[in-house]
Amino acid sequence: MARHGCPRAGRWPVQLRFKTNLTSEEYVNQQAWQDATLECCPLHPQGGCSFARHGTYERVNPPGTQIPRWYCSESHRTFSLLADCFAARFSGTLCEVETVVVEVERARSLEAAADQLRLDIELPGAIRWTRRRVKAVHACLTILLGLLPELFVGCQPTFSAFSQWLRVDFILPALREIAALHLGYLPPPLGFKPPACSGGEAKRPIQQQTGPDPPALPQ
Ligand SMILES: [Zn+2]
Repeated sequence: MARHGCPRAGRWPVQLRFKTNLTSEEYVNQQAWQDATLECCPLHPQGGCSFARHGTYERVNPPGTQIPRWYCSESHRTFSLLADCFAARFSGTLCEVETVVVEVERARSLEAAADQLRLDIELPGAIRWTRRRVKAVHACLTILLGLLPELFVGCQPTFSAFSQWLRVDFILPALREIAALHLGYLPPPLGFKPPACSGGEAKRPIQQQTGPDPPALPQ
């Protein structure tokens, strides 16, 4: 049986990529989770297990978002398909997370950016919320430079450098496609690496696209 390299990964549902060009609004309006399909059990591709559709779970943003799930009772594992527009383990979309990091890179300080980004909460909370996104995204960019050196030789792990390199409006959705084979090695919000493995290397991710799938999403 193919298992994730991290011994603690088994406690996390496995997240896989739902390749789609839909925006989050289109995804909700079209109820696109009903079209998402997972042909076979990722752990038993030869068949023979009880792998079957297992309802959906709800994401906070945008309201009405449902994420489809499957379950294999033999391996006691749940699988879900996360559409490309969504940030893994962060609320909202990849583009929304990207906007935060771009604002920080343009601002005179992270604190100044946080003060403007989250007018609805106190500054310490806004700083934590902002820093968490900046840290996670910069970690993804740094890992990507190592995973795909032939694509990004000479590029710095900043949004401004990546956007000049890729010449697209939003780089995180583009990077999810570019790094599709490496999503199991990449942490959220871009990839699906389980948080239990954040301190180690994921050696054998399932379909190279595995990760957590928490119904309660951090804000
Ligand atoms: Zn199975």
